[in-house]
Amino acid sequence: QGAIAFRDVHFSYDPERPILKGISFDVPAGKTVAIVGPSGAGKSTISRLLYRFYDVQKGAITIDGQDIREVTQKSLRAAIGMVPQDTVLFNDTIAYNIRYGRPSATEEEVHAAAEVAQIGSFIESLPHGYETMVGERGLKLSGGEKQRVAIARTILKAPPILILDEATSALDTTTEHEIQAALDVVSKNRTTLVIAHRLSTVINADEIIVLRDGGIAERGTHADLLAQD
Ligand code: ADP
Ligand code: ADP
Repeated sequence: QGAIAFRDVHFSYDPERPILKGISFDVPAGKTVAIVGPSGAGKSTISRLLYRFYDVQKGAITIDGQDIREVTQKSLRAAIGMVPQDTVLFNDTIAYNIRYGRPSATEEEVHAAAEVAQIGSFIESLPHGYETMVGERGLKLSGGEKQRVAIARTILKAPPILILDEATSALDTTTEHEIQAALDVVSKNRTTLVIAHRLSTVINADEIIVLRDGGIAERGTHADLLAQD
């Protein structure tokens, strides 16, 4: 479920400077495809197009064969879960922040998602370090802990499609490995688009696509791409 196809997708923010010059690729249902490339190559633009922050200017994006322009914004956004580079949390309890993934979830479901993401012990705490108007003291979560909140939120939402947009790139190496392991669990058997700037962080992807100068410069598994260099 959630098979994604990009077909001859063109996009530019400024007509003078095309960002994507006709790219085509598939993310088969349940598989993980990684987009890598230098800063400014258009990697995040791909995730914004999939979420319809912007529409393609030529070509099409489909999910399970249906053009995303024919899907309601609400159901498109319900189908896609996103873990960004730096998760911004509401100044409310961790539980509130997790529940945001699926407001209809029960208390038990929120707790279960927090346990899987290994933040079960402090979900009634506030995420920021400062005192609130009612005198409650926040925890000041680390970057890794904030990503765990984003992961718990995604577990709760259980979307068919997952976008990981540089989800570990703001973390130190040790934390990066821990969060990567948690993300591997969430993305297993889920259609997943990973945005990354280094090949070394996407070793397990089913396919890696190297974006350069508005087109796909190389593609293959991690082993294929290493063999070519
Ligand atoms: P990447 O994720 O590969 O670093 P982006 O997709 O964020 O690249 O951006 C691709 C290019 O488009 C960059 O040169 C960036 O400066 C430009 N860009 C991104 N967003 C906008 C915008 N809203 N308006 C104009 N230019 C933009
Ligand atoms: P909506 O009113 O859009 O259906 P929900 O809060 O019910 O909003 O669902 C939001 C997202 O969570 C949707 O992607 C939906 O498919 C998913 N979802 C709903 N119920 C469950 C559930 N019991 N387990 C996992 N995901 C669910």
